[in-house]
Amino acid sequence: MVETKKTKYLIIGNSAGGIGAAEAIREAGKAGIVTIISDEPYPAYSRPLISEHLAEGRPLERMLFRPPDFYEKNNIRTRFGEKAVQVNFNQRTVRLGSGRTLAWQKLLLASGGSPIVPRIEGIGLKGVFTFTRLDDAKAIARFLNQYGRRVRAVVIGGGLIGVSATEALVKRGAEVTIVEMKERILNTILDEEASALEEKVLAGAGVDIITGHTADRIDSDGSYGVSGVSLDDGRRMPCEMVIVAIGVQPRLELVSDSGIKINRGIVVDRRMATSIPDVYACGDVAEAYDFVYGENRLTPVWPNAYLGGRTAGLNMAGTKAEYRGGTAMNSLSYFGLNIVSAGMVTPPDDSYEVLSQRHNGIYRKVIVKDGQILGLVFAGDIEKSGIIYNLMKDRVNVEGFKKALVTDDFGLASLPEEIWQARLAIPPSEVTSIVAPVEQPEKVVIGE
Ligand SMILES: Cc1cc2nc3c(=O)[nH]c(=O)nc-3n(C[C@H](O)[C@H](O)[C@H](O)COP(=O)(O)OP(=O)(O)OC[C@H]3O[C@@H](n4cnc5c(N)ncnc54)[C@H](O)[C@@H]3O)c2cc1C
Repeated sequence: MVETKKTKYLIIGNSAGGIGAAEAIREAGKAGIVTIISDEPYPAYSRPLISEHLAEGRPLERMLFRPPDFYEKNNIRTRFGEKAVQVNFNQRTVRLGSGRTLAWQKLLLASGGSPIVPRIEGIGLKGVFTFTRLDDAKAIARFLNQYGRRVRAVVIGGGLIGVSATEALVKRGAEVTIVEMKERILNTILDEEASALEEKVLAGAGVDIITGHTADRIDSDGSYGVSGVSLDDGRRMPCEMVIVAIGVQPRLELVSDSGIKINRGIVVDRRMATSIPDVYACGDVAEAYDFVYGENRLTPVWPNAYLGGRTAGLNMAGTKAEYRGGTAMNSLSYFGLNIVSAGMVTPPDDSYEVLSQRHNGIYRKVIVKDGQILGLVFAGDIEKSGIIYNLMKDRVNVEGFKKALVTDDFGLASLPEEIWQARLAIPPSEVTSIVAPVEQPEKVVIGE
């Protein structure tokens, strides 16, 4: 059955990107029907907080991204717990798992990412989990509660998700081993030195880390449960639980045979428009402009999804808006060690200048080329990383004062007056709350 009353704005995905778009559509003063579809049964919640749900039982009410009455107040129709199974781009309809079909005039694909699951023996056993959704955290918590004794867990993959899961499991009293295929953990978001600091802090918390190897097979206990993980060198790690955290990929199932332009994710322009008219994309599913590299890339972090969603929403509502661009940006505090990284963390060749300082567990590194900051890694003392991030984002020429960037006493006062006056002290965490004005004169640049 096709619902006759046309949904004007249809959004697939109820997370950072979808909410950013819905808010922007309403802020632009548009009154049409907005419908959000999500196959998760919850109002939008902060995905990074699923580790706190697992670690200490943080309830959903304290994970919500917006107040419980958000949808009602903004007159947004919701279809939570329903999966969009097919999009017809010619007829402009979306078919749901329930058999119902919704019509749209403007469509936003904010479907995020899905965990990569290797096809190894034993992957379907009880006790094997992924860790990207609240339901994953709930299922792991149930398993831990039921098991009773101290669980031994192997986390396959030492990236952000694997280490988040590890910290939560350790807090729950589990004995954890991380198996990472590359030579160091967190290798895509940290440089060698910061990875080593992170490995030290994890080891201090009792976590075993095996690098340079991967899991070949998950062994069964003979009754559908896990008894261990066999590595590619023949070693066997006995365990009762396995967390698969080898990566997340853009969730492209709805567009795979649509002809839409895809590289690694759905390619969007600076308006977050895809190659199909009236179809937009944002967040982890999209490949949007990265201002450090000057090209479209996947930058799967929450603030970029939200700002991309806002840009898409404004354009869907007829207000010209441009995504200024995002970049990789991470703020970690596993076991009390604060680390911030953004942009490029390891220069590809020696045409880049690396400024660094290290002492007493503090590590600061800034990568500069032609007077522009292209990346940063701060560990131990991250207080000034917000200023550096904003200098990078604003493309400020730092040639005249670059050596000061990594010093202990660096601060706004170290900058030439005309620069510090321009509101540079915004920490990365606040980038999410920067919003475009409701009434747009001509064009809005999101991320200013
Ligand atoms: C454990 C963990 C820790 C993280 N920590 C951080 C952090 O510290 N900082 C940070 O910036 N980022 C972090 N991230 C990444 C961040 O959560 C993502 O970048 C962000 O959630 C992306 O938002 P999104 O709107 O693109 O999509 P998602 O948050 O992935 O949401 C997409 C939604 O769409 C739904 N959906 C997809 N397809 C369909 C369909 N066909 N039908 C119905 N519904 C569908 C999905 O179920 C999902 O609910 C973390 C992620 C994880 C998993």
